[in-house]
Amino acid sequence: MLLTNNYIPMRDLLPINGTFEMMELPYKADALGIISDTTLGFHHGKHLKAYVDNLNRLLPDSGLENMPISEVIRKSTGGLFNNAGQVLNHVMYFEQFGLEHHEPSNRMAQKLTKDFGSVEAFRKEFEQKGTTLFGSGWVWLSTDADGHMVITQETNANTPLGRGLTPLMTFDVWEHAYYLDYQNRRADYLNALWQVVDWQVVESRLD
Ligand code: MN
Repeated sequence: MLLTNNYIPMRDLLPINGTFEMMELPYKADALGIISDTTLGFHHGKHLKAYVDNLNRLLPDSGLENMPISEVIRKSTGGLFNNAGQVLNHVMYFEQFGLEHHEPSNRMAQKLTKDFGSVEAFRKEFEQKGTTLFGSGWVWLSTDADGHMVITQETNANTPLGRGLTPLMTFDVWEHAYYLDYQNRRADYLNALWQVVDWQVVESRLD
């Protein structure tokens, strides 16, 4: 399910001739059900598009042209950092949803159980960290240098890359991700997202 030929291994992006491309959604905007096509239309077509356009506008003469987006994130500050971070965050968010593989494989379930006690305990902690993140940001599942699974709260445009982690899965808790469908009920939105996570995509980011 590679979306564009500049996508490598589902946790990084390469520019083509100095420009990052806008990703296509790997499903129809009305396919997920628990997120409306109106929300997805704005979130993908307006919010992500603006981050991609800003990133491409800020890259020239930054000294970071033609680098993978992970390198731009590691080496930039200010507007360039914010837009690069938001592009990678959103690509990983939109791409991890789908119509299949809604339960973790045995391999993933074993890893989650080892580090969180059970898959259910992992889900609970992930939702709780998403609900209690103050303001705008992202809750992430990542692996650390020893291969352990960790959950982190990242504010605004931050990513687990800044902590030296390998990002695997994320729920967007900026209000634009859920307010049209769930208003202030962030916890309900987070709980509903499990119904559309494609665990095969998440697992592919391990390798
Ligand atoms: Mn968003």
